[in-house]
Amino acid sequence: MRLTLLLLILLSSLSAQKVKWIVWFDTEDFILPASDDAALRLARELEKLNVRATFKVVAEKARVLEQRGRWDVIQALARHDIGYHSENHSVPPTPSVYLSRMGMLEGAAEFVRREGPGNREVERIFGRRSSTYGQPGNSWGPQSTIALRRMGIPTYVDEAGHIVMGNQPFWYGGILHVTNLGPNAIRAELKRPERLPAALVAFDAAVSKLKQQGGGIVQTIYHPTEFVTTEFWDAVNFKHGRYTAPESYQLPKQRTAAEVEEAFQTFLGFVRHVLAHPDVEVTSVDRLPTLYVEETPKLRQPVWREGIQFEQGLTAAEILTQLLGLGPVYVDGPERRGVTTYREGQVERTLWQRAVADVRHFVESEKRLPAEVWLGAETLSLADFAMTLARDGGEGPARIERGTLLFERHIANDGRKEFNWVIHPPGFDGSALLELGRLQAWTLKPARLR
Ligand SMILES: [Zn+2]
Repeated sequence: MRLTLLLLILLSSLSAQKVKWIVWFDTEDFILPASDDAALRLARELEKLNVRATFKVVAEKARVLEQRGRWDVIQALARHDIGYHSENHSVPPTPSVYLSRMGMLEGAAEFVRREGPGNREVERIFGRRSSTYGQPGNSWGPQSTIALRRMGIPTYVDEAGHIVMGNQPFWYGGILHVTNLGPNAIRAELKRPERLPAALVAFDAAVSKLKQQGGGIVQTIYHPTEFVTTEFWDAVNFKHGRYTAPESYQLPKQRTAAEVEEAFQTFLGFVRHVLAHPDVEVTSVDRLPTLYVEETPKLRQPVWREGIQFEQGLTAAEILTQLLGLGPVYVDGPERRGVTTYREGQVERTLWQRAVADVRHFVESEKRLPAEVWLGAETLSLADFAMTLARDGGEGPARIERGTLLFERHIANDGRKEFNWVIHPPGFDGSALLELGRLQAWTLKPARLR
């Protein structure tokens, strides 16, 4: 009897998935020297607590640390995990602003040209590979996914609303994303230490909800500069897309010594609570690729009952490549939105086979999906082609089906709201980026914990 009970307890503890916690710092303020000291103290305090944090560093910040001879800061941060947080952060033009006028391929090349050298600088100065990238503010563009793969950066870690995937990690553009965790992105307010208990309650609630769902991830986000200032360094100098030359930089307003101490104690109080939580396991951003399964299971028919969607552990693109008889290869979404001009309700078998062979060839040679598919001199949109292929019986004329792209509902719609960062030019509208984001959503699916 006692043995059975012990066995039951053992089994239940084995099956209980712990909730993961990551903490990261956007290390970006290259103007205020006190922010260097804040980063140093955070790195040292967390090391003492055995917490491996991620410092996402702006290239200009890394160069400034080097110029100021802050080897103490560089070495302390390098003992944690290092990510990349853009070349210049808020110096215009920011990523959304330059990417908004470009398509997928041109934008990806431009992102590599502008942001690639800075990543190499961060890697050189800290002596380690960047584990992740996150955009400045909400300055997002889907072209960055193609660029990050070229730059050898495996994850995108941030907190913004452009992609909506149930507040947990997902795959998009071939990159593991941790962003838009919503209620699972929790921090204590440094300016309001009396609200620490409320943050702890929110943390516990998120953990127990995720635990019920079989596990998940919670993240905590700060900027070292926040611990020593009461306003953001970049809002003071680059508000609304304004350029300020380095010799004219203004320092942000600073906290008093007592307020700085209070901010650190509030943060450390939050961290100690996390560490004491029995259902929480501390992990770090550089471990994410081993925590989440990268898999392309074999397709089980039938697919896409209601419309075109990720399902069965596969992105819509992975489903389509399997329907085409291609191996489990990663391919990007289309570059633009194609149209259907073909008016018949069906297509004769040899012409259909010719179209399928052409798509197969395009995908293999371009490593992305085509915008549209030719039937003679007329076209099917990619969605209509994919749905027709999924429903095709393989004999006689193929019946044309209409495809609804359900996965596009996971991309936000409001081009002003999602890019409403104080550094962007007033009224900046990122709708074109969201539209490109929808095209790339062929590559979207939830990420599954191992
Ligand atoms: Zn930032």
